[in-house]
Amino acid sequence: MSRRKIVAGNWKMNLDLTEAAEWLAEVESRLRNPACDVMLFPSFILLADLMDMYEGDVLLFGAQNCSHLESGALTGEVSAMQLASVGVDSVIIGHSERREYFGETNPIVLQKIQQAIKHELMPVFCCGEPLAVRNEGKQKEFVKLQLEESIFQLPAVALSEIIVAYEPVWAIGTGLNATPEQAQEMHAFIRSLIAAKYSDDAATQLPILYGGSCNPTNAKSLFACPDVDGGLIGGASLKVNDFLSIIDAAR
Ligand code: PEP
Repeated sequence: MSRRKIVAGNWKMNLDLTEAAEWLAEVESRLRNPACDVMLFPSFILLADLMDMYEGDVLLFGAQNCSHLESGALTGEVSAMQLASVGVDSVIIGHSERREYFGETNPIVLQKIQQAIKHELMPVFCCGEPLAVRNEGKQKEFVKLQLEESIFQLPAVALSEIIVAYEPVWAIGTGLNATPEQAQEMHAFIRSLIAAKYSDDAATQLPILYGGSCNPTNAKSLFACPDVDGGLIGGASLKVNDFLSIIDAAR
């Protein structure tokens, strides 16, 4: 089975409303019938405005995070229910920056995924090892534990509702992408774990994106790997030309 590819832009905490609106207008006018699905993850504060402005039918919109709880006294948090109420399609969960700077553990990540699924937001579950772990050659054990303590707690039926993003921490924002061989090896490993835990069907259908210094130069060779189903793109998604080139590489 060939999975449709996905290219997703994670803007992180970048762009103000004017810059974001300019980006959107340009992408709206230039992006026609892409060969892949295209998702955009702006900051919370921009999401509803951008969704209102957008008149195309290509982009899916997502948030970069959601609360692990349904509602209540959690100043500064945004719930999955609130995101769903404004029409958001998806949410990134467990990004390494959330894990590192906001102390998100695997069990918290699991709660967030459960919240997203409950409110029909497609979670983009991020996993990936830090440099020290890669240097020790323990990256597979590390990622396996991230999966076991989060998505492996989900029932089989939920597997068709998630996207996995393998993002080695040492590759994020460093300009040092994983080689296609390194990405393929980890993606195939993740898929084999899904097959063993759930089923061959679940593994075959699961989109697994690569993230970490993906750019117009390396995207084609990364996306050509049989188990790499597209990319989660940080820095390069901020520049329209680069983002559109990466989308083109997903043919
Ligand atoms: C990311 O933060 O998800 C990411 C992949 O960033 P970058 O592309 O900038 O490495």
